[in-house]
Amino acid sequence: MHTKVHGLSPADLHPVPCSLCGSTQAAVEHRRGIFQYLRCSACRFVYLSPRPTQEKLIECYQRYLPSEEGDVDAWGRMMKVVFARAADAADRHAGGRPGELLDVGTAHGFFLDVMRERGWRVKGLEIAKKAIAAARAKGHEVVEGTLETAPFAPGSFDVVSAFYVVEHVYDPVDFLRRIRALLRPGGLAIVRWPHTAPLVRFLMTLREDLGLYDPPWHLSQFEPATIAGAMRRAGFGSIRTTVGGWTLPAGPVGRTISATGGLLAETWERLSGRSFPGVSKTTVGVRQDA
Ligand SMILES: [Zn+2]
Repeated sequence: MHTKVHGLSPADLHPVPCSLCGSTQAAVEHRRGIFQYLRCSACRFVYLSPRPTQEKLIECYQRYLPSEEGDVDAWGRMMKVVFARAADAADRHAGGRPGELLDVGTAHGFFLDVMRERGWRVKGLEIAKKAIAAARAKGHEVVEGTLETAPFAPGSFDVVSAFYVVEHVYDPVDFLRRIRALLRPGGLAIVRWPHTAPLVRFLMTLREDLGLYDPPWHLSQFEPATIAGAMRRAGFGSIRTTVGGWTLPAGPVGRTISATGGLLAETWERLSGRSFPGVSKTTVGVRQDA
């Protein structure tokens, strides 16, 4: 087999233990081309293994984000409701007094736009150079790099947000710990993630593979229990997972379906007290100090 996917061949991939609990006992959850996801037998976490090295992945990421003007604007519009819900959560937590926010993986800085508009002092962190340039062109302060290399002082933010990042990082618990360290005591983390596992299981029974797992970009496939476990391990409390809005696809038909689905999911969540499977979720957690 010499299949190259996103410039990766099987020789670029190596096995890893569960990033949540370190166990190596796991069963295959999903296979797609040269990639496979395992489900940890100890904690039920689903993760990509074998996988490329972090250096190799960062190289691949320069081609990941949309660069066409149209695509970029579409993303900003799509995320409008999700960003508004997240901004409401930040404002509520801050008691109506805008503070300092860091958006990790800020892409083109759309959430920074929303929060700046609400009076927050905002900074972004991003690895894709084109996206950094776009965010800076709007006057945002964006640092190039990851949480490992970020120059921010510990305890310097009231809110740290990360939209669709935690499923991409190598070690999600370490990622969340670094977010916690950047928060002031009592500060709020807002983490948005795709909840695809139950949906993929359902679609696989129909022999449909819509590529929702998105390897190699998605290293982790969270579910409400495993994201909560990761947040607890990282030192967060008052953890809450909600649908947190819905994305708005560009076309009017897709938009109606998505908005209806999102509304339905939120209503279900409110009435049943249970999380709705198959749609993205926003998880918030408060920095705990012993
Ligand atoms: Zn595990």
